[in-house]
Amino acid sequence: MAGALQGQVAVVTGGSRGIGRACAIALANEGADVVINYTSNEDAAKATAAECEQAGVKTLVVQADVSKAEDSQALIKAAEDAFGKVDILINNAGINRDKTIQRMTVEDWDAVIETDLSSIFYLTNAALGGMRERNYGRIVNMSSVIGQMGNIGQANYSAAKAGMIAFTKTAAKELARFGITVNAVCPGFIETDMVTALSDEIKETLIKAIPLGRFGTAEEVADTVVFICKPTGAWYTGAQFSMNGGQYM
Ligand code: NAP
Repeated sequence: MAGALQGQVAVVTGGSRGIGRACAIALANEGADVVINYTSNEDAAKATAAECEQAGVKTLVVQADVSKAEDSQALIKAAEDAFGKVDILINNAGINRDKTIQRMTVEDWDAVIETDLSSIFYLTNAALGGMRERNYGRIVNMSSVIGQMGNIGQANYSAAKAGMIAFTKTAAKELARFGITVNAVCPGFIETDMVTALSDEIKETLIKAIPLGRFGTAEEVADTVVFICKPTGAWYTGAQFSMNGGQYM
């Protein structure tokens, strides 16, 4: 049976692991051809591609450091060269370098701002020319509950994720007339490498603050991303999709 995204091309940054991996697979299951970006884990990116291909779609694996403008431009060009277009851009790649403001180095600050925030400008800027020509585009920015509520030890990350929400609103206003929607997804704590790396003590404390009493899964986030990209999401733009087990309302 043809999926709702048959014939569309999706680029997923940070598609090798975690939420990005789940998004790539979920988009493939709806019939989209998928470009899977990674920065260092080539084997994981290839494994994601193999899973996507089981849905009968085409894939392309592209190494690119999205914190760099040239790499981001090259990623979009590689996708357009291979598939002729980009319909869906999932700006998912992200890192954290958690420290209190006093201990945070300029390097910690810059790394997170460049990877999580500057990247979405580079990639949107590179992709929107083609989207405008075809009068169609779906851009989803992977923000975070931390961008909505702040968190001790995450000044760089919270600033980047809040910046993603503001960028989303501006881009949504600028691009609506070209048939391009731009939305932010704001997950709470999700069971991926980013969270499993925390100590058991911190994880216990975090779960106590979540009314639904558990972390979310990457697949739950991917379901929301797919909802936005399918015709079900056509009238959403500039929106924040909050999903956090009730941690922040
Ligand atoms: P993850 O498991 O740590 O995976 C991070 C992904 O981003 C990997 O695919 C990694 O590629 C890629 N990446 C990192 N730096 C990159 C760069 N400079 N260029 C290209 N790719 C890069 O993270 P996750 O938990 O799935 O998080 C994905 C996104 O969701 C992030 O933006 C994160 O801030 C956001 N988020 C996560 C949570 C959570 O609780 N996990 C909650 C809210 C929001 P490699 O495999 O090559 O390293």
